[in-house]
Amino acid sequence: MAEVIDGAAIAKRIRGELAHLISAKKLQPGLAVVLVGDNQASEVYVRNKGRASEETGILSETHRLPAATTQDELLALVAQLNADKKIHGILVQLPLPPQIDAQAIIAAIDPDKDVDGFSPVNIGRLSLGLPCFVPCTPQGCMILLREVEPHLAGKRALVIGRSNIVGKPVAQLLLAANCTVTIAHSRTRDLADECRRADILIAAIGKPAFVRGEWVKEGAIVVDVGINRIADPALPGKTRLVGDVDFKGAAARAAFITPVPGGVGPMTIACLLKNTVQSAEKAR
Ligand code: NDP
Repeated sequence: MAEVIDGAAIAKRIRGELAHLISAKKLQPGLAVVLVGDNQASEVYVRNKGRASEETGILSETHRLPAATTQDELLALVAQLNADKKIHGILVQLPLPPQIDAQAIIAAIDPDKDVDGFSPVNIGRLSLGLPCFVPCTPQGCMILLREVEPHLAGKRALVIGRSNIVGKPVAQLLLAANCTVTIAHSRTRDLADECRRADILIAAIGKPAFVRGEWVKEGAIVVDVGINRIADPALPGKTRLVGDVDFKGAAARAAFITPVPGGVGPMTIACLLKNTVQSAEKAR
């Protein structure tokens, strides 16, 4: 039976270390979060990020803009935040309304304040192995992996999903850690077979319990990035969160597995705070 990797506890430890660093070095990190429109899920994420920032000692300001905001208006806000000396991190919450070109907005964020690590400059630096802001969710996955397996070199890693925010950057990080990396996606022919060979399996698909327990290699490390809300069969009318992996089936075979919730999710926020503190230190 797999040991469960407690992402919530590890994230709490990181937030504690950051709070200590902020007070020891007398830093005043500032994070600006921009939310356009009224997406319910985004609202929850933004509130959680704001709360976690304040608890850690990071100044947090949220800019709420109406759904009809134009691209120029949003670019003007980004320019204002780029110039604001008390702000060290800028995060524009995705998705953005259809009239706005998200790539253009992300590219307009000063790369030295791009704490999400999504700008072309940061992604370029990541793939070149240069210092950069490492995207938060992939960074969180690597911390969880290293927590249970410090020796990643030579391991076969399978990343399921090739999005710009999770799949591709996590594959880059695994490669940098000397894993032998395979990236699977919706056109992959025999996913079960790919899974059976993987010492490390990262699932970032967005489909509830898609990875079946019997696909998991005995003794593998499973990191489940997926966050899917489904109807709860035990409580009619209620919903619950599940990952992209069949937790019970996979836990019966894996050596280590992350839960959903309480795995990668809390690590994403902890890494956002980490990047913001890193930015404040660099600015000083
Ligand atoms: P995307 O929808 O951008 O990407 C999903 C990927 O899964 C795509 O590359 C897609 O392939 C692949 N995929 C879809 N169907 C299959 C299939 N049948 N077989 C193999 N691969 C498939 O999602 P994200 O990367 O943004 O997010 C993935 C999950 O992670 C979601 O559940 C999301 O909610 C969660 N998430 C969690 C975070 C956290 O903090 N824990 C942060 C960010 C995301 P193709 O490219 O061919 O379409």
